Amino acid sequence: MEVTEKVKIVISIASLVAATVLIVSEYRRRKHQSKQTSSLSSCYLHSELKPQFGFKRVLADNSYSGFKHLKKLEDVSSSSSSIEKSLNCHPYETEITVLLENPKLEFSFLRGEYLLEMNDSYVWVETELKLKELAETLSKEKVFGVDTEQHSLRSFLGFTALIQISTQEEDFLVDTIALHDAMSILRPVFSDPLICKVFHGADNDVLWLQRDFHIYVVNMFDTAKACEVLSKPQRSLAYLLETVCGVATNKLLQREDWRQRPLSEEMVLYARTDAHYLLYIADCLTTELKQLAIDSSSPDDKFHFLLEASRRSNMTCLQLYTKEIEDYPGNAAASSLINRHLNGHGDNSTSFVDAKFQEFVRELCAWRDLMARIHDESTRYVLSDQAIVALATKQPTTTEDIYDAIAQADLAIESPSAVVCSHLDDVYQMTQDKLVKLDAILPAVLQKCLGSDGTCPISIFNYSLLVNFKTKLTSHRSAPKQNGNKNLKQFTRKASRELFVKKFSCKAPVYHNCRIYANDGRLLCYCDRRKLEWYLNRGLAKLVEENPPAITLLFEPKGRPEDEGNDFYIQTKRNICVGCGEGNHYLRYRIIPSCYRVHFPEHLKSHRSHDIVLLCVDCHEVAHAAAEKYKKQIATEFGIPLFVHRVLDSKEAQGTSSSMDQESTGNSEDAGVSPLHLRTAAMALLRHGNRMPSSRREKLLQTVKMYYGGRDISEEDLEKALLIGLSPHERRKLERKKGVSLKHSVEVSHMDKQENNNNDTDANSLVSLVEEQGVEVPAGSEKDVNAESNMVADDSSNGTSGGDGVTELNDTQCNGNTLHQQNSKLSLLGHGPHGKQIVEHLLKEYGEDGVRDFCQRWRQVFVDTVHPRHLPGGWNVSHSGRRDFGEFSVYNPTKRLSAE
Ligand code: AMP
Ligand code: ZN
Ligand code: MN
Repeated sequence: MEVTEKVKIVISIASLVAATVLIVSEYRRRKHQSKQTSSLSSCYLHSELKPQFGFKRVLADNSYSGFKHLKKLEDVSSSSSSIEKSLNCHPYETEITVLLENPKLEFSFLRGEYLLEMNDSYVWVETELKLKELAETLSKEKVFGVDTEQHSLRSFLGFTALIQISTQEEDFLVDTIALHDAMSILRPVFSDPLICKVFHGADNDVLWLQRDFHIYVVNMFDTAKACEVLSKPQRSLAYLLETVCGVATNKLLQREDWRQRPLSEEMVLYARTDAHYLLYIADCLTTELKQLAIDSSSPDDKFHFLLEASRRSNMTCLQLYTKEIEDYPGNAAASSLINRHLNGHGDNSTSFVDAKFQEFVRELCAWRDLMARIHDESTRYVLSDQAIVALATKQPTTTEDIYDAIAQADLAIESPSAVVCSHLDDVYQMTQDKLVKLDAILPAVLQKCLGSDGTCPISIFNYSLLVNFKTKLTSHRSAPKQNGNKNLKQFTRKASRELFVKKFSCKAPVYHNCRIYANDGRLLCYCDRRKLEWYLNRGLAKLVEENPPAITLLFEPKGRPEDEGNDFYIQTKRNICVGCGEGNHYLRYRIIPSCYRVHFPEHLKSHRSHDIVLLCVDCHEVAHAAAEKYKKQIATEFGIPLFVHRVLDSKEAQGTSSSMDQESTGNSEDAGVSPLHLRTAAMALLRHGNRMPSSRREKLLQTVKMYYGGRDISEEDLEKALLIGLSPHERRKLERKKGVSLKHSVEVSHMDKQENNNNDTDANSLVSLVEEQGVEVPAGSEKDVNAESNMVADDSSNGTSGGDGVTELNDTQCNGNTLHQQNSKLSLLGHGPHGKQIVEHLLKEYGEDGVRDFCQRWRQVFVDTVHPRHLPGGWNVSHSGRRDFGEFSVYNPTKRLSAE
């Protein structure tokens, strides 16, 4: 190796080391500083003055409420009914529409002598007086050029830091920080349709002016739109400045901190340049647009292209500023972060492994969103995306490691940010699982930061956040959804949803997390109190702990969960929605629909705790809808219809060719009627028969007659028809409703009662029925709800079910479905017959493996639609499901019968 090469290598190594030392020492220094800050346990905002805290009034604060647009005086007086509307309307829609229809074209943006060169003088506008003078000056102009500079890093929504305005004679730089509360002075000139405002690329400026000052631009010429129409190779201002004016700019200055005062000479020059040449550029482009029309094939309209540029410009003015509203704080950011991360891994299966990662990302994004709002900082300033990924990946557990992970994640000058440094404890607690779950982050953080002993200053930006947060919590307490456009729908459904939650959600924690130990001290499972009592009452166990209670079995149980790979059963289970973590309300959800599960062999049924999970109303609805859809798919796949197609009164059937045991008959196409249709028709006729139009009544009568073989029917027939297809349980419910005493009331055992407490199962179907059709829910539509309890209750009633109601049902013949006599306990209105046939088919064709595969398919559907992030550890799509019962198990079928 040459000596010079060696020297080169040594030098580069040395400089690398030097650089590393520098970086590390700088890093240590910051770390040291931050530790001091955080030990003060007070917010950095107590000592840092941010310019926007001088604003007395902000139009767009950091609360979750929508943006209120300007209401013009004439609108205020005209009508009060359209307040809602006017808040979300463009106040100058009429004026702009008039302009679009009858454009006032500015043919020449310059008059008389014009000096293109920029001289040394400009007007710095920082007092109200000067601003009024400017407004006065502008009101006399026919046209002026405008540009704005924004600051976005140290502000949640961003704010306008400078407005540059240029007339043919002068350049004005308006200090919009100093004059923030006085900017309305400029409103009239901006909305004056007789004054043309020239912008370059105004899409954002238009919105920013609305957001900060309720300034609406009417009559605009956007030189970027002109470039579009002219099909210029480039549309940037820099390009135009260079090609049209021969002026070079350094666009990097765009990213300067425009809050600084005084502005550097360079920044002043840059800012003036952005507005100064606009009139000249507009003038040149107008000439080009006119020339283009002349050059083009149809020169009859020589203003065609100029009009098009003007039209596109004024369309820009019609835009309205809106605040982004999410289903949940930080939801969009979290979802996109997670997606990017998962895509990066290129493996879908990781989504499951990464449940903890996702949960942490969501928590951090929610926290970041809220902290950004409270402190009026951008989310990227609070915590960068890279930092969030780093935290969620490494899951550091000490404040030191958290600090390091963030500092190393991105090379921003201020990382970790002041927010993180003074609130490091929050992040620490999230890693410790202490700062509660997603839906509790909001109140917790708000309480901590802005509550009565809050650590952070209350400002004009976060005040309404604090005031509104209670309403926010009730209206936004929804699961983070994949598709976020459900907001409006959700709002209108809020009332019924609340009712629904009250009615159907579990009244007490579902999981008591009581423990059962084997006599050798090994944990067997977590369970509820009743199960403990069951063993205790029978002298099969002794109580070993009180709170939460635990028992030790006095007999040798069959096997241990760990030995069978069933460690799912020895996890504690949290009383939260497994989908989104909602903890305030939840209901049981059966992952495998009851219509199938009730027909499973007992030993496959018993792993109920694995396949019955808690879901909040929102997640429940999503899961339920997907399950109903999937049932249809199953029906098609197996060729087994979801509903019984036809029923026919047996007396009438005997008159035709069919007989009782025939499953499908030759005349099945024209005989009989769907039990659901029959019931709906009979119900409608009984309730509203004499009030409905005769054509409608005739049609319904026809339906009922089809059941009775076409003969004339009486009111009694209608009453009878109401009961057709109902299971004995449904009949009892109906009779109970009518106040009829119960012939078949069954004393449901203590244990069963608990298991049967499943009113919630398909409860969402009730709501959608009520909402969509506006009908009272007929007893029969509660189909699946009680399918499971039916079976248990009927089993225990053991043969006593041969009363009047049931014989009637046996008199009904059905076809279109393979039904046996014993199925009389199944409701024909729901999916019961379908479920039974499917399970029988699976068992016959594939044995128990078929049932297991079937279960796995349902779990996959559940996972794919709900994307559950809070499933208990050990939960698994391919859970085996098989459990053998020990001699004393509550699930041992023989034991159970004798125990009752
Ligand atoms: P301009 O229209 O070029 O004057 O830009 C107006 C404002 O938009 C600037 O003050 C910046 O705050 C923001 N901006 C525009 N482009 C960028 C960019 N590429 N990066 C960061 N900020 C930008
Ligand atoms: Zn703070
Ligand atoms: Mn600019």
